[in-house]
Amino acid sequence: MPKSVGLDLGGNAINVTAFDGTNFLIEEMLEVPSLVREGPDVLGDQLLKAFQLALDSVGWSKSDVDVVGLDTPGPASATGVFTATGPTNFGNPAYGNFDITAHFKRILDMPVVYLNDGNAAALYSHFHKFGSDRTKSSVSLIMGTGLGGGIVVDGRVVVGKVGYGAELGHVTLPGDWNPVEKFECHCNCGRKNDLESVASLTGIELNLLPHYLRRNPEHPLASLSARDAARKVRGLCEQGDPLAREVVQSQAWAIAAHIDQMINVLDMDAVFIGGGGMQTTPEVQHWFIDTVRARIPWRAEQMGLTIEVAPHGDMAGARGVAVHALA
Ligand SMILES: [Zn+2]
Repeated sequence: MPKSVGLDLGGNAINVTAFDGTNFLIEEMLEVPSLVREGPDVLGDQLLKAFQLALDSVGWSKSDVDVVGLDTPGPASATGVFTATGPTNFGNPAYGNFDITAHFKRILDMPVVYLNDGNAAALYSHFHKFGSDRTKSSVSLIMGTGLGGGIVVDGRVVVGKVGYGAELGHVTLPGDWNPVEKFECHCNCGRKNDLESVASLTGIELNLLPHYLRRNPEHPLASLSARDAARKVRGLCEQGDPLAREVVQSQAWAIAAHIDQMINVLDMDAVFIGGGGMQTTPEVQHWFIDTVRARIPWRAEQMGLTIEVAPHGDMAGARGVAVHALA
């Protein structure tokens, strides 16, 4: 049975997994600091340490591993060449147009396969639910600082011609996404009223809180900076704060409008919703998914669509890219 190691490279840490084609042999979060700000040479050393850590923890040697999967934040090409500016949270100009896959391949002297982190997480959710069933399709929506997406069709992740497939955060919402009122939401990408402008932490900070606080100037969040206030919304939502619930409800409506669009495009089997925005109490998770389901104008035939919280959020990237590498 072929084996792979998956490395999920983030702004702070490299999370690792080992995959034997059936099972993930590392159960817990296992990571080394990524030290990305110190530049590609230091990062190369850290990637090598992370790879060795995975081998040591499962008792494999390098010759046991057929392929290594590597995922990183984008924007990057389909093969892992960063854009001219490099990933925003890597904080070092040396990553502009940098080929991270080739760099790591040179250091490791073995095959390395690349995915962006949204696609890797999407593939893991899909694999966790459907295994290697080649007939299933799914959409993943990862609500973090931004809105990361991933699409799996017939068991294969959609990467796109130049690597920008499934940039679902920047798909524009339909005009009636909010059934109660209309207000303009701006995204850092320059678009108005796209999914990320509502269903992300940045969307809360830039658009939702300013809108709802304007009507509730006495609310305790009004006295905080926009950034600090946005980070408190999830906790307040868990406590039942009406304004925080309105903010998160509007996110659920945006997600519902987007899922309705995707149903009409793909007629998929499942939707997985993950990211920091879903790392909350089971009560809020259920309420959120119920709110999403209630807003979708279902056809009777499609009401069986699975909508679930994405599993194992913090390990999903490494696991997804490990699966992809073997595929
Ligand atoms: Zn956008």
